[in-house]
Amino acid sequence: MQKRLITEQLARRVVRPRARDTYKGSFGHVLVVGGNDQYGGAGIMSAGAAVHAGAGLVTLATRPVNFTPLHTRYPEVMAIDYTDHKMLAELITGATVVVIGPGLGTDQESAETLEFTLTHVTDQQTVVIDGSALTLLAAEKKIEWPASHIILTPHEMEFARLSKLKIAAQTPEAIQSYMNTLPTGTILVHKSARTTLYTPGSQDYWQNTTGNPGQATGGTGDTLTGIIAAFAAQFGWSEEAIAAAVFTHSAVADQLAETEYVTLPTMVIDHVSAYMRQLSRP
Ligand code: AMP
Ligand code: MG
Repeated sequence: MQKRLITEQLARRVVRPRARDTYKGSFGHVLVVGGNDQYGGAGIMSAGAAVHAGAGLVTLATRPVNFTPLHTRYPEVMAIDYTDHKMLAELITGATVVVIGPGLGTDQESAETLEFTLTHVTDQQTVVIDGSALTLLAAEKKIEWPASHIILTPHEMEFARLSKLKIAAQTPEAIQSYMNTLPTGTILVHKSARTTLYTPGSQDYWQNTTGNPGQATGGTGDTLTGIIAAFAAQFGWSEEAIAAAVFTHSAVADQLAETEYVTLPTMVIDHVSAYMRQLSRP
């Protein structure tokens, strides 16, 4: 397998200055489905990251206990209760990108929410599957992959559950063999200290060049899903756009690490827009 590097040059090709005659509809609608009573912060950070990374509209489908903290921190995000399936179906229909999983949990209600979401997305939409949703997919054989553009964002443990490959066995060749069993139109973001990207049938994979141990803290992955969703919503579904999102997420953290010991997800959210402006200028 050939390794290719995700560079700043690549990210600059993706993050272009905004055209003058645009409006919020030009930059897509991101729907994040996640955040149960216990893990609300994960859904809130994913949705907050999507707003700060430039998605035109963002809605969080979550449990009502999370509405007030969401709106206190990120009033730009709209909110619905994901147990209201009529509302959820409407929101899914209107979304450009659906993120499912951050803080969703793995109980019966979480499984029903995942199944409902995956059966309502269409092949026009992009679905980012993360966290609890990956754990549920690994366990529940009856849940079908949707006919959409899919982005899977497992860390090594979640990938082990999904692929049955132990962490030590997750070599590029073994990861690629697993990917070759998935539908075309799937991108795997294999998260680690050196995150890599894979697509079915490919002879090469992409390795990120940004990132630091200050990111080893809860919520980092949830923030990544929001940035990936915002990039797919604005710049379109492509391997290059997803690679640019992965690069940007950790590049912001690297800038923060010049003065910070830990680079918290909420700090990354606060600085991602300034970094994107930097990328978009010559
Ligand atoms: P999650 O476990 O879902 O929160 O995802 C962890 C996120 O933090 C991924 O984006 C990883 O790439 C990143 N991360 C964790 N530890 C490190 C590290 N030592 N160096 C660089 N990135 C890291
Ligand atoms: Mg995670």
